[in-house]
Amino acid sequence: MKQSRTGYVRKLETMGMVDGPGIRTIAFLSGCPLRCLFCHNPDMWRTDPKDAITVDELVTKLKRYKPYYGEEGGVTFCGGEPLNQPEFLYDAMKACKAEGISTCLDTSGFGRVDTFDDILSVTDTILYDIKGLEEKKYREMTSAPLRVTQQFLAKAQEHGVNIWIRVVIVPGFHDTYEYMDELAEYIAPLNNIERIELLPYHTMGVNKYETIGKEYPLDGVPAMNKDTCMELQKYLISEVDRIRKEA
Ligand code: SF4
Repeated sequence: MKQSRTGYVRKLETMGMVDGPGIRTIAFLSGCPLRCLFCHNPDMWRTDPKDAITVDELVTKLKRYKPYYGEEGGVTFCGGEPLNQPEFLYDAMKACKAEGISTCLDTSGFGRVDTFDDILSVTDTILYDIKGLEEKKYREMTSAPLRVTQQFLAKAQEHGVNIWIRVVIVPGFHDTYEYMDELAEYIAPLNNIERIELLPYHTMGVNKYETIGKEYPLDGVPAMNKDTCMELQKYLISEVDRIRKEA
């Protein structure tokens, strides 16, 4: 893979407890080619020259928090879409691994297919966002074709990377037991699935659209009820277990 030692990182957050195993530092790589209707970080779609950082500078910062990572923790690379900077992402994750720091990739699985093998070779855990299972609906939700993320998932299975499945649940789009049944059929045959999480859609990003001069695509759609989302999650996990037992 072509080497690129400079990338774009908007911010680091420390002591994260939910974005991957253990205690983690979260590196937010700016830039994303998708346009998910429910995106609450449209300010991360574009890179900013102010975000520029070299791999060495980034890893020096990440190493400072190493005492907190313990056995399980490490660094999570999220975005935007981190696969949008594949050379930088690969270099940064490889450098983390060389320092004994565990790597986690929070991704939609959309990127350059020819870079997936290299990136997955230095990835310990993936937080894999499922944004749709059927071409038309996926494209409506993300403005991207479905096949790329499917190829990413297939490669992740080949590499045996641990996966946490994550699905944002938007009322009126995903909050049905029929969709949970489809998800269960899709997830059950997959290997190395460590966790399945449904994330309730929220409206906290609405104001960011005003600041970037864009209309909010889901105007009027309410936040997802957290209890209902939890019920759907319980059902989904039980269906995945049932399908696996019957297989
Ligand atoms: S992949 Fe993430 S950052 Fe990109 S548009 Fe979708 S929700 Fe927003």
